[in-house]
Formats: sequence, structure tokens, C-alpha cells
Amino acid sequence: MSFQAPKGTFDWLPPSSEQVLAVREALVAPVRRAGYGYIETPVFEDTQLFARGVGESTDIVSKEMYTFPDKAGRSLTLRPESTASVLRAVLQHGLHNGQLPVKLWYSGSQFRYERAQKGRYRHFWQVGAEALGAEDPALDAELIVLGVQGFAALGLTGVRLLLNSLGDRACRPAYRAALQEFLRGLDLDADTRARIDINPLRVLDDKRPEVQAQLAGAPLVVDHLCAACKAYHEEVRSLLTEAGVAFEDDPRLVRGLDYYTRTTFEFVHDGLGSQSAVGGGGRYDGLSEMLGGPPLPSVGWALGVDRTYLAMEAEGLLAGDATGRLQVYGVPLGDDARRRMFLLVDELRRAGVSADMAFGGKGLKGAMKGAGRSGARFALILGERDLAAQAVQLKDLTTAEQTEVPLAQVVDVLKGKVQ
Ligand code: AMP
Repeated sequence: MSFQAPKGTFDWLPPSSEQVLAVREALVAPVRRAGYGYIETPVFEDTQLFARGVGESTDIVSKEMYTFPDKAGRSLTLRPESTASVLRAVLQHGLHNGQLPVKLWYSGSQFRYERAQKGRYRHFWQVGAEALGAEDPALDAELIVLGVQGFAALGLTGVRLLLNSLGDRACRPAYRAALQEFLRGLDLDADTRARIDINPLRVLDDKRPEVQAQLAGAPLVVDHLCAACKAYHEEVRSLLTEAGVAFEDDPRLVRGLDYYTRTTFEFVHDGLGSQSAVGGGGRYDGLSEMLGGPPLPSVGWALGVDRTYLAMEAEGLLAGDATGRLQVYGVPLGDDARRRMFLLVDELRRAGVSADMAFGGKGLKGAMKGAGRSGARFALILGERDLAAQAVQLKDLTTAEQTEVPLAQVVDVLKGKVQ
């Protein structure tokens, strides 16, 4: 019997694992330049944190959480998202008592028991950024701009930004009531009807054509925004325009989490089929209080790392970058040469040259095949005769040109060549 990774999960293997690391780094580079500090929180938390923080009425909490009792009977849950965890950590450590906003970024695994398909996994990776403790449209705009820059840095041209406002405590209740009244007049199945009471905004997000067709005349939150929300939203829009960021107003954009207020946005890519969101976020002014903290108006986003990788694949941006970063491959022939090569490879690495060598006592042919497969530019061939002469054969694998170099000089020679 052999094991398989659990359903809905997968392994990142070289060379795509290297590429996904690069994707992650590129997505967070803009926020790091903007003063966001790195935070790492536990992969599991008290189940109640998510029940309260993400919302009992969401699909995530009601259907998708990996919840288990630990040996002492505590109910723990693998994190389905990280905003609630970040806020928990900020409140626990009193970071909000210092300079505001608190700006943090994270990178890590998330877990949701979803219907697995391409682009939708049960274990997936997000990078995220949160700015906590300030109500300022410039902060919303900053985060959106930084997200756009991350995608752009990867060379992606097909990412679109959808923007909406969900209103706040002042105007959302009246909108919600108007929407509920409209929805009650529609021909919907029992599950969807139940949603009308619990989370009517989510019905707008229903992708089924028979539901969408009935939603054409639904009241829109933009028409129900209070003056303060309207002004705030206009300011975010105008800052984005001034920053040269293209966006599309999407009055139907709601998101799967309960805690959003005012600014809501999503990054979508059309090359991904039905799982088109590569990232999303928004303002969550009431979340801190929902978790027992003080008022802490905040805004944040999470970008899907594996989805972004798939978007890059769809745009053909991954081709040609498949060989790792190995520069030199050692081919020792015989035991003495193997010992010397072991030290030489070590010396090269210390000098900043990436190097590997043939292991397992391969002969010249097998070891040269390994050199070719490794993707290295140079092979260093060391036979017994070379060793006696204190020299090594340096072969450029792209031109097949071979030269003899004194062992004492080879590190310097290679340093010069690989820079
Ligand atoms: P959310 O936390 O649901 O707002 O998701 C933010 C981003 O994470 C989405 O736009 C996706 O790119 C990514 N994402 C969410 N759920 C999954 C999943 N099940 N598999 C892969 N990526 C996901």
C-alpha cells in the first residue's frame, strides 16, 4: 500500500516549488516596503475565535472548518483564514496601545473543507496584510495599490480589481432589510431562503444562473449608503484613480466573511475558470469589538498564492524558469577525488557559488548525466590524474568548452564567471 496526500491537498515539488516561493516573495515585497511588519500566528486557534470572528452564518464556519478536540478537551480549529488570528494577537499583546495603525503581513497555510477542484483546495496558501486601528480612506487605497503592485511585479497583466462598499452600522441595517424584502419575493430553494434571514448579502453572491437571473432588480448597497460611507467610498475611488490604478465598480460584490464594512474589493483573473479570485479584502471596522476588544477600525487583504501561481501559468509566465539556481556540479572520479570534491563544493558554497556534486559513486558517464540534469552551467571534473596535478577540469556545459584550472584558483575563477 502506498499513501496519497489527503483529498484536496497537494505537494509543491521542484521546480514549481521554487517558483511558488518567488510568487510569495513578490506578492509581499510591496507591503514590506510600506512599513508592514511580519507576524506569525499558530496554525490552530480556539474554535470560538473563528466562530465569532468569521461569523456563524458563513459557509466557512458552518461547513468548512477543520475542528477537533485536543487531548484536554479544548475545541481547536485549523485556521480557515488569518485576519481573526492577527487581530487576536494584536489584542492579546496590546499592539494597539502603541502607534496606529498597526501594520502587519503574514504568509501561511489555510484550511477549509471545500469541494476540491482546480484552484480550490482544502489546504492552500495565502499571504495577507492588515492595517489595524485607523479609519482613513488613504489606508484602504494604500493596501489596494500594494496588492496591485504585487501582481504587477510578477508580470501579470490579466488581474482586474473589483470594488464596492458595504456600508456601515448606520446604513447597512436598512439596506439589509430592503434586500430581504426583495429576496422574499423570489422563487428560491429552501437553503437559499434560509440564507435570507441569516445572511442575505450572500445570496447576491450565488453563482447559479437561475438565481442570478432573478437578482437583476435587487436593491444595491451603493444606493443605500449613508453620507459618511458615500464620502469615504468616493475618496477611496479618487485616490485609486490618482494613483493610476484601474478598478471596476461592482455593486454586487459581497464577500464570504461576515466582518466586512465599507470598502470591499476582489482581485480576479479571467484565465482561471470558475475559481477566478486571486485575492480579496476590505475594511472590517467592527471585528475587534466582536472579539471583545476596543473599537479598532481596520482594513486588510489576503492573496491566494496557489491561485496566483495558476494565473501566472495561464499567462505563460512560468515557462523557461524551470531549472533551479545551481551554478556548479562536481564530478569526482574515485575515492580520493570524491573526498577532495566534497571540500571543494563546500568551499564554493561558502564563497556564495551554488554547487552540488554527484553522490553514490557514479562513473563519469552517469555523473555527467547528473551534471546535465542539474541545470548547472559548469561541471568540475576531478580524476585521479587531475588530483595528482592539483588541477581540475572546468567544463562550460552550455558550450562544451573545457579548460584545466589549478585547484587553488578554481573558487576564484568560478566566482568571476558566475557573477
Ligand atoms: P478569502 O479568505 O476567502 O477572502 O480568500 C482570499 C483569497 O484566497 C482568494 O481570493 C483566493 O485567491 C484564495 N483562496 C480562498 N480559498 C481558497 C481555496 N480553497 N483554495 C485556494 N485558494 C483559495
